[in-house]
Amino acid sequence: MSADDRWNCADVRARTAEHLDGELAPAEARGVDAHLAGCPDCRAGWEAERRLLADMRRRVQAVRAPEAVRARLRAALAHALKEEISSRAPHDVTDA
Ligand SMILES: [Zn+2]
Repeated sequence: MSADDRWNCADVRARTAEHLDGELAPAEARGVDAHLAGCPDCRAGWEAERRLLADMRRRVQAVRAPEAVRARLRAALAHALKEEISSRAPHDVTDA
């Protein structure tokens, strides 16, 4: 009986997210990996969570780039609008 046998399904599932984030101590990560290797149920849960996390990270990256572009566009638009308004404001005021 090795130290890895201390890991039961509840322990492993409670630490899946931490393990995916690489936050477990090396000895803990080895214990979780050893359990996953011999437990199809936990392995399935682990794979599902890993896919979810990868998908989430992909979405975050996909959203982040356009947001940076939108921020630049908004800034450029605000600047152009301000120039436009300040350059024609006198006429608009007298015309109104
Ligand atoms: Zn298990």
